Amino acid sequence: MDISTRSFRPADRIADLGVSEILAITARASALKREGRPVIILGAGEPDFDTPDHIKEAAVAAIREGRTKYTVLDGSPEMKRAIRDKFRRENGLEFKADEVTAAAGAKQILYNAMMASLNEGDEVIIPTPCWTSYFDIVRIAGGVPVGVPCDEGTGFRLTPEALEAAITPRTRWLLLNSPSNPTGSAYGENDYRPLIGVLHRNPHVWLMVDDIYEHILYDGFRYVTPAALDAGLRERCLTVNGVSKAYAMTGWRLGYAGGPAPLIAAMAVVQSQSTSCPSSVTQAAAIAALDGPQDFLAGRTASFAARRDLVVDGLNAIQGITCRKPEGAFYAFASCEGLIGCVTLQGMRLDSDRDLCAWLLEAADVAVVPGACFGLPGYFRVSYATSDDELGEALACIARACATLMHKAGE
Ligand code: PMP
Repeated sequence: MDISTRSFRPADRIADLGVSEILAITARASALKREGRPVIILGAGEPDFDTPDHIKEAAVAAIREGRTKYTVLDGSPEMKRAIRDKFRRENGLEFKADEVTAAAGAKQILYNAMMASLNEGDEVIIPTPCWTSYFDIVRIAGGVPVGVPCDEGTGFRLTPEALEAAITPRTRWLLLNSPSNPTGSAYGENDYRPLIGVLHRNPHVWLMVDDIYEHILYDGFRYVTPAALDAGLRERCLTVNGVSKAYAMTGWRLGYAGGPAPLIAAMAVVQSQSTSCPSSVTQAAAIAALDGPQDFLAGRTASFAARRDLVVDGLNAIQGITCRKPEGAFYAFASCEGLIGCVTLQGMRLDSDRDLCAWLLEAADVAVVPGACFGLPGYFRVSYATSDDELGEALACIARACATLMHKAGE
């Protein structure tokens, strides 16, 4: 038999997709660290804080009491009650039990929703730069991601004109994320209202909002989720959230959403033939997270705010780098346009943000992620979910390395 017929051939559906470039960069940085290099990794999208004790205790109690069996497919009745209470208490949204769902992370919620709603060729409008997974989830579901470039001039936010221009008869969803990964930009009521106006003129377009960074907002930014702004939109809006970021529970895997019952039911069909219910122990922990004390969140957000200032000020002090002050999440998205074309001491020209990030890892021992990964070259993303000491050290290393670069003639 010809060896090639025995070698693995991936399905067409995923043939062009790779595992996340962020994970590849983190793997390279971790390998250097194991070799003894003092590498600081500012690539990860997870809080460095620990899961609070009352949440861990709820999981331990669930294990001890034998609550370790399958639950209802898309969340136990108690889980759904906690989700409905959360939406009512924090967002002013009333959902019935059949209008909420729980899955193994917000990522699975997004995946379920796309698999449940997209036919081959259906389009999903996604403002870019955006979280890397959105495009590939849409593609796996047979859809076509339609990136709409949003630049720094609008705070990386989608404008109603750009939305209107991107809508076609095949548009199924507009997918928004606030505060955003990777830019940290957030949408306020005044940003959402004109976009909702466009959606009213285009009733075939549904809205999916990823609110996973809801609790990480600074300077008194007034958070709002679109479904709460407009009763008419409720009929075609899926509000996605999860416990990963707010409660430092990335490894527990629990995301949830609220939306119209027929969509929620279709999402359960997808989940029933993939992962079944989210872990029963994790659900016990997530119920404790949503029902329990919320006051510790303010303290954590205050530490993130101080780190944001440290990072944004530190980056802006480096010649060739400029960084907008983000409203939320734990990312700074900095322009490195001023360093593109520079030459390193070894005589290598930095032709792109990818070149710069690869060089920073080698020359400064700092891992950051190129903007190209998120759909906007000429930038890079710094995750500041790490200690002040590490951030200070990383900024000093980046500044020292950049000071050795030879700038383009005339600069
Ligand atoms: N949405 C965004 C914008 C994210 O950054 C992430 C995590 N990186 C997720 C969703 C996924 O969250 P979860 O851990 O709940 O799957």
